[in-house]
Amino acid sequence: SMIKYIDEYRDKDLVLKIAREIKRISTRPLRFMEVCGGHTMAIQKFGIPSLLPENIKLLSGPGCPVCVTDRKYIDAAIALARIDDVIITTYGDLIRVPGSSSSLDEEKARGRDVRIVYSILDALDIAAENPEKKIVFLGVGFETTTPSSAAGIVNAETRKLDNFYLHSSHKVMPPAMTALIDEGVKIDGYIAPGHVSSITGTSIYDDIPQKYGLACVISGFEPVDLMQSIYMLTKQLETRAPAVEIQYKRAVKSEGNPKAQKLVDEVFEASNDWWRGLGVLPESGLMLREKYAHRDALKAIPVEIEKTREDKGCICGLILKGLKTPADCKLFGKVCTPNDPVGACMVSNEGACHAWHRYKGVIID
Ligand code: SF4
Repeated sequence: SMIKYIDEYRDKDLVLKIAREIKRISTRPLRFMEVCGGHTMAIQKFGIPSLLPENIKLLSGPGCPVCVTDRKYIDAAIALARIDDVIITTYGDLIRVPGSSSSLDEEKARGRDVRIVYSILDALDIAAENPEKKIVFLGVGFETTTPSSAAGIVNAETRKLDNFYLHSSHKVMPPAMTALIDEGVKIDGYIAPGHVSSITGTSIYDDIPQKYGLACVISGFEPVDLMQSIYMLTKQLETRAPAVEIQYKRAVKSEGNPKAQKLVDEVFEASNDWWRGLGVLPESGLMLREKYAHRDALKAIPVEIEKTREDKGCICGLILKGLKTPADCKLFGKVCTPNDPVGACMVSNEGACHAWHRYKGVIID
């Protein structure tokens, strides 16, 4: 059964056995970064850091899609929401992310039409039901969610829904991973994302061992998975054999999912994109190809976007770069909480601040 399946990956004795193995083979300080919001959550939830020897540190990187979505993007979404005949459709978390002077949540409270949907297909149905309105879907996420947005665009064409638009903040993960190394963030290896890799396969990470000499292991999300991945990373470094390895073999094939890759490639092309904390990274975003440009919300709907202002005191950007932890933020747990978030890292349950707050309790100094 499914329960047994999960139990196997939560086996406490096995977790402790791997912890002893890690301790046995590790001889020097090592720092591993996770770049997947699901890993951020799981690592905090299962208390993985407490199982590791002193010399092995884990840090969170830019893996939470809502967190890395830049304020400029949120401001643009808010500006679109303020247009009378526009209906904004979005996944839940995004509506609470503060923009420069408002949030989609606040706009909704003021009577703007902002609707939470569970898939882009719901947004297409809203477009079909409201032919006199313009329906904008907020496409946010990495390689895991882009295929469904691509399918939605193709679907909109087939259904001739001329009032359906995408405001895309879709991003690809590898440019952020290498940008961090280029910027001098000190890490020895990546706990590479499981779901992203099930789409992309392993080749997108080849530069990490080959060009940078860092370890890279694609991990699952259960305690045994994470511990095994940390063991594999440690072993790669201790034996001076960095490589891209798959721990999460039950979900990830080295070639990924070619069908999903093809669909994304049909609809999107790489573009420079803004990342919170990292700034503009070349070829790190996905915009609609020329063929579908008429569905690009910001190209098709004239709109004026306010000048971006960042919150003073929020160090989300530094946390996303692995340079700080949530505990370093003066606002953490005091001014900034999941119920009243100041920054994006506290909004999404995949954000580092949210995960720390939820699983470690409020840090009181
Ligand atoms: Fe920003 Fe809040 Fe995290 Fe501080 S605790 S970095 S204010 S999101």
